[in-house]
Amino acid sequence: MKANYHTHTWRCNHAAGTEREYIERAIESGIEILGFSDHTPNPCSWNINDGIRMTPEQTEGYFAVLSSLKKEYEKDIELHIGVEVEYIPGEFGKLTEFLHQYPCEYLIMGQHYVDGVYVRFIPENEAAFRNHVSQMLEGIATGEFIYLAHPDLIVWNGWEDLYAQEMTRLCRGAAALGVPIEFNLLGYRNNRNYPDRRFWRIAAREGCPVIMGVDAHVPEDLELSQVEPLAREYLKELGITPMETVKL
Ligand SMILES: [Zn+2]
Ligand SMILES: [Zn+2]
Repeated sequence: MKANYHTHTWRCNHAAGTEREYIERAIESGIEILGFSDHTPNPCSWNINDGIRMTPEQTEGYFAVLSSLKKEYEKDIELHIGVEVEYIPGEFGKLTEFLHQYPCEYLIMGQHYVDGVYVRFIPENEAAFRNHVSQMLEGIATGEFIYLAHPDLIVWNGWEDLYAQEMTRLCRGAAALGVPIEFNLLGYRNNRNYPDRRFWRIAAREGCPVIMGVDAHVPEDLELSQVEPLAREYLKELGITPMETVKL
């Protein structure tokens, strides 16, 4: 894998290992471009302290540590510093303003909530599903995101036709905007509900640009010799050739 833009740090409270360990692992795996994208703080009206993201106070340290490592490793690997963002309509401006204080190179969109509810816990709520898709489309339409992470995170046990309709709407929108969608290797490796084959059939049909993302939460996640060939095979069977890099 030439590039991975989806890497976390200990600051989100559900990842482990030092930044240096992630970098060393990536180099061992032959990754040429490594982007950190830890869960950004949400300086907004809700979930600021949900415990799964860095705090506003930790943000400074995140950029400082990574900036210095970026220099130190510049001969060995191309490092970039971004964040994974929860797009919250009406509050996004506040977040980008906050991030402007830091040398933030890119944003990926990782939508885990809809109206404050985790999307893996709304398996049959049709209104919430529609809203979730609308928010993802609204977010990527801002032009602020290099890609959409795990677009198929939702656990959907409801009406099948609605799944096809809504995911077609999402894929068609992403393809029209030219925003890549992520094939998430963390979900794939751990046999989670995502990648969801129903979704990837639609993505293939709609001609979405696709990028693989490790979503590393421990340095060992960057060991790709097992998972990468299988993921490529999965995509190839659907007629999808993933992009190797995205523009920052
Ligand atoms: Zn995470
Ligand atoms: Zn992530």
